[in-house]
Amino acid sequence: MKRVSIVTLSALMLLGLLTSFNQKAVAQEAPKAVNVIYMIGDGMSLPQVYAAMLASNEPMTFSQFPYIGVVDTHSSSNDITDSAASGTALASDHKTKNGMVGMNPDTIPVKTVLEALSEQGKETGIVVTSYVTHATPAAFYAKVPKRSQYENIAVQMAENPYINLIIGGGMKHFIQRKDSINLVERMEKELGWKVYDTLADIDYSCKKYAVMANSDHMPKAAQRGDFLPRAVETALRTLDDAENGFFLMVEGSQIDMACHANDSTWMMDEMLDFDNAVKVALDYAKEHDNTLVVVTADHETGGLTLPDPKSKYSDVTFHYSTGSHTCLPVLVYAYGPGAEQFTGWMQNSDMKAKIMKACGFENFGDGLPEYDGPNIPAIRINHDSKPE
Ligand SMILES: [Zn+2]
Repeated sequence: MKRVSIVTLSALMLLGLLTSFNQKAVAQEAPKAVNVIYMIGDGMSLPQVYAAMLASNEPMTFSQFPYIGVVDTHSSSNDITDSAASGTALASDHKTKNGMVGMNPDTIPVKTVLEALSEQGKETGIVVTSYVTHATPAAFYAKVPKRSQYENIAVQMAENPYINLIIGGGMKHFIQRKDSINLVERMEKELGWKVYDTLADIDYSCKKYAVMANSDHMPKAAQRGDFLPRAVETALRTLDDAENGFFLMVEGSQIDMACHANDSTWMMDEMLDFDNAVKVALDYAKEHDNTLVVVTADHETGGLTLPDPKSKYSDVTFHYSTGSHTCLPVLVYAYGPGAEQFTGWMQNSDMKAKIMKACGFENFGDGLPEYDGPNIPAIRINHDSKPE
């Protein structure tokens, strides 16, 4: 009898072990992303990436990611998107009209991946080298029919309960306003922010802060040094102890500006700077294997081609066919849990669902989130103006 019990016990223990192995095996098959770092090179398609690889004589950090796909960037109104419509598509599930931020073509506000993941308990951050109110970052938190409504976007940022940290330029939209409101003062006194004008002063115990390190966009890469990689480091250091993980959006904002200017030296500097920021993110992801890194772009700028390319920088010929955007698709590069979804040909409006799925959320809703944070007024939607 005793022997039977021991045999039964042993069998049960073995079964338990096998079950736990099985569960482990299942968990290993589909690990969930706890942290997401979503990196956007504004205006960066394959020509910009390959030009930078020729220039540095090295692959880009992200070109070595294990999963690569193609992203169709057209907006709901045009084959050639602007950064507002593509930012909205990359942030939400919706293609919209050029010029519109955080709204569908009928001016109905849409929920972004930052807002949806914040609702799931993740901390969130945004790091850019443009104004913090520029089209791409704004597409993650603001809802306006015209991207040029910077002062309105600044108010929506200040009042947004979903952002934990935001770093970039554009202080003028907060303190040199037509309505004479000192929005920085309001942010600090009424809305729970700490506002800094340099990365150096940050109090890491602070759970909601904005760094606006320039009145305008940040200076060009050659002048601003390693601001972007340092800002990503700063953000990761802040978000690292987030209990339920984090969502961080990073934009290499000025690749686009350089390509609008058809300025190859500036473009190259911006590309290598953006790749240095990706390297910071990848180093973090290698240490934290629950971190998904997705690198993509909103559109191509400049119609860049590389006729007669040679192996040395000085021999590369750059040819720009326009000072505007083109409809050339861009690529997406992914590393970490859920990265395998980012292959094949996809739409820019597919990204949110893929990121949410990587984090284990599939039916996450699509409408405007409810703004029920204590003492935080609802985001103001400006319905007065028509889309551009
Ligand atoms: Zn853009």
